[in-house]
Amino acid sequence: MKEIDSSSSSSSSSNRDNSKVVVIGKMLRQTVVLIVLLVIVYDVISLRLPPAAPVDSIASFKETVDRALAGLGKQKCLSLLGSTGSIGTQTLDICRERPEQFKCVAMAAGSNLDVLTSQILEFRPKLVSIQNGKQIDDLKNRLRSKGLKDSEFPELAYGDDGIIAVATYPTAETVVTGIVGCAGLLPTVAAIKAGKDIALANKETLIAGGPVVVPLLEKHNVKMIPADSEHSAIFQCLQGLPPGALRRVILTASGGAFRDWPKEKLAEVKVADALKHPNWAMGAKITVDSATMMNKGLEVIEAHYLFGTDYDNIDIVVHPQSIVHSAIESADTSVIAQLGWPDMRLPLLYSISWPARVPMPWKPFDFATVGTMTFKAPDHDKYPCIPLAFAAGRTGGSMTACLNAANERANELFRAEKLGYLGIPKAIEMVMEMHKNDLMMNPSLEDIINVDVWSRNAIDSILPKVNSLYTINV
Ligand code: NDP
Ligand code: MG
Repeated sequence: MKEIDSSSSSSSSSNRDNSKVVVIGKMLRQTVVLIVLLVIVYDVISLRLPPAAPVDSIASFKETVDRALAGLGKQKCLSLLGSTGSIGTQTLDICRERPEQFKCVAMAAGSNLDVLTSQILEFRPKLVSIQNGKQIDDLKNRLRSKGLKDSEFPELAYGDDGIIAVATYPTAETVVTGIVGCAGLLPTVAAIKAGKDIALANKETLIAGGPVVVPLLEKHNVKMIPADSEHSAIFQCLQGLPPGALRRVILTASGGAFRDWPKEKLAEVKVADALKHPNWAMGAKITVDSATMMNKGLEVIEAHYLFGTDYDNIDIVVHPQSIVHSAIESADTSVIAQLGWPDMRLPLLYSISWPARVPMPWKPFDFATVGTMTFKAPDHDKYPCIPLAFAAGRTGGSMTACLNAANERANELFRAEKLGYLGIPKAIEMVMEMHKNDLMMNPSLEDIINVDVWSRNAIDSILPKVNSLYTINV
C-alpha cells in the first residue's frame, strides 16, 4: 500500500510537475503570441501614414480656419511643371484671369516650343526649363524672332537639373505638378524639401512614392493640396469636418471611352477609340487610363494617401455626366458632394487658393440645364484594372510603385500599337505577381526608383507572351 501510496504520491507530484510544465509552456506560448501580435500592431501603426492633405487633425482644422479668415492676401508666386500640357495651360488660364492673385515665376516643359514660346512672351517667367538642352538655341531664336531682346530672356535651363531648379525656384510658394507619370517624383520631392506647397495634379508621384513623400510632407511642414477633380471635390467636402468624422469617400467616374461598349467588343479596341474621352479634354496618357479605368484605380490609391482612408472605405460609382465630382460620407451617414461643370480649372484654382475662394467669371452652374444625373456600380469584369489597383493598394509598400510603372509602360506600348487594349491589365497583373517576391513594405526613395525601372523592364520582358494572347488592332 505504502508503495502504492508513495508511487501514487510521486505520480501525483510528477502530475503536478507535469501540469506546472504544461501551464508554464502555455504561458510562454501565450507570451510569444502576444509579443508577435504587439510587433505586428507596432509595424502596422508605424507604417500607417498620416493624410498627405491637410485634413483630419486638430492642427489642420485650426490652420484651415485661420487661413480662410486671413484670405488669400498678396499675389502668390507659382512654379509650374508641365506648362505646355493640359494641366499647365489651364493653370496659366487662371494666372491670366487673376494676375493680381497668381504669377507663374518658373515653368518647365517637355519639347513643345510653339506653346512654350507664347507662354514665355505672355507670362514672362524668370526661369524656364525644357527637357532637351539641344533645343535651347531653337527656343532662343524663336524668342528673338518674336521681338524679345536677349536681356529680356528668362534664365534658361534643361534636363533633370532644369526641372529641379523650376521645382525649387526661390520665390515660388506653390508648385503645380502638371508633368505626366513618375517623372514628377524627384522634382516633387525636391520641391517639398525646399518647403514649397504642392498643388498635386501628377497623381503618379503620390501613388508610386507615397511611403516616402507623405513623411517628407510632415517633416518639412508642407501642404499637399489635390488638383485632381475627384480629390479636390473630396477635399472641398472635408473643409470643416472635425477629425475622425470621415467614414467613406465616394469617387465618381465618367466611365471613360468604352462605358457604352459591351465587354465582348473590347477585343476590337484601337488606339484612336481609347483617346476619345466623352467628358474631359486631357493628355493622352490619362485619357487611355480613363478608357481602361486604371485612372480610377490610381485615384483610389491617391485618395488613400491624400486622406488616410482605408481601402474598405473607398468606393467608386460610375456617373456618366461628370457633374458630381465626388462625395464623402461622414460618421453620421450624411453624404456631402461637390458639383460643377466638368472643367479642370476649378479644382486647379482651389489647389492654389485653398481655403480662400477667388471670384471667377466662369459659367454659373445650373441644375435645370443638367436635368438628369445617373449613377451605377463599376463593372470589375469589364475593367480589371480597378481590382488590380485595389489589390496593389491593399498590399501597400512598393507594390503601388510597381502597379504605377507597369501601367505607365503598358499605356505607352498600347499608344505605340505594340500592346493590345486587353493586354494592358494582363501585363500589369503578371508584373505585380512577379514583384511579390521582392516586395518592400517600407521602401526608400531609391527603392521606389529601382522598382519603377524594374517594373517597366518587366513589362517589356513579358510583352511577347501577352501579345500571343491578345490581338493588337491597328
Ligand atoms: P499632358 O500630356 O497634357 O501634359 C504633360 C506636360 O508635361 C507637358 O507640358 C509636357 O511637355 C510635360 N512633360 C512631359 N514629360 C516631361 C519631362 N520629362 N520633363 C519636363 N516636362 C515634361 O498631360 P496632362 O496635363 O493631361 O496631365 C498631367 C498630370 O496631371 C498627369 O499626371 C495626369 O494624370 C494629371 N491629371 C490631369 C488631368 C487633366 O485634366 N489633364 C486631370 C487630373 C489629373 P511637352 O508637351 O512640352 O512635351
Ligand atoms: Mg481625376
